[in-house]
Amino acid sequence: MEKKNIDWASIGFGYVKTDKRYVSNFKNGAWDEGTLTEDDTVVLSECAGVLQYAQTCFEGLKAYTTEDGRIVCFRPDLNAKRMTDSALRLEMPAFPEDRFVEAVKAVVKANEAYVPPYGSGATLYIRPYMFGTNPVIGVKPANEYQFRIFTTPVGPYFKGGAKPITITVSDFDRAAPHGTGHIKAGLNYAMSLHAIVTAHANGFAENMYLDAATRTKVEETGGANFIFVTKDGTVVTPKSDSILPSITRRSIMYVAEHILGFKVEHREVMFDEVKDFAECGLCGTAAVISPVGRIVYKDGVIEFPAGMEEMGPVTKKLYDTLTGIQMGRMEAPEGWICEIG
Ligand SMILES: *Cc1c(COP(=O)(O)O)cnc(C)c1O
Repeated sequence: MEKKNIDWASIGFGYVKTDKRYVSNFKNGAWDEGTLTEDDTVVLSECAGVLQYAQTCFEGLKAYTTEDGRIVCFRPDLNAKRMTDSALRLEMPAFPEDRFVEAVKAVVKANEAYVPPYGSGATLYIRPYMFGTNPVIGVKPANEYQFRIFTTPVGPYFKGGAKPITITVSDFDRAAPHGTGHIKAGLNYAMSLHAIVTAHANGFAENMYLDAATRTKVEETGGANFIFVTKDGTVVTPKSDSILPSITRRSIMYVAEHILGFKVEHREVMFDEVKDFAECGLCGTAAVISPVGRIVYKDGVIEFPAGMEEMGPVTKKLYDTLTGIQMGRMEAPEGWICEIG
């Protein structure tokens, strides 16, 4: 298999059309057998449920080449499970989880030429998603759906090392109590666009959202969970029913506790205690961990001791261990690495 002639180091994070994508349709109460196709377009009724009432959810994961040359992805079974949770909350039929994993493998295999080589820092981003396709005008769930997976090569998240970012505490809320913050739905992102454009205009890389009910507790950013490290080396991550359960965050907490021997806590985190933490990072599939160096809010600025040049020492250890596991340089816990074969 010959790799595409792509300058992996400089592709950035944008859509690049690859050769094949996976499509399955749900009709008359059942998913069809699904297929790989070259057709990158979706033709829909003008009244499709997704277009009128945003009935859609998605997932995101990556395929990459390990040190010893295998093409793998990381814990796709957890993406499958999370997509089931998202679909059911939006009154959509779940796509069977075993078929989800098989479809991820098939679409990566079919686009093997776009999986960046080991050491390039680039990866093949995988985007599964599902949406209501039949006409819906009264407010109700669609009864026909399409599940698709496309892939697109993306460049290294950090060019020239992971520099800490400056974030701000948003004046907007991301998710209501008992709402949809815990599922991966496009609707959560639609309403975050104004907040992130505003943050960028003010010179901040990301928004920290607080809990909508009391605005005293840390939730997450628009697309990544927080991890904090206390001065005595405990790894802390916020707990709330309106946070999206990041697979990266869950993996980091496992690694911290069971491989590195840190004390870990998954609990409510008050914004008032953030100033006392030694380290702060954002975790998600895209960057694994982005270190946060500074948080600006209406009453002041929090500056973490590691400063604006490099990750804090514990964050770095977590980052190196998780990426070591992902890239096959370190032994992975059972079931974490899925070979494309
Ligand atoms: C996808 C996402 C994350 C990160 O989840 P991973 O599974 O680690 O990629 C965090 N927060 C939100 C809101 C997300 O949509």
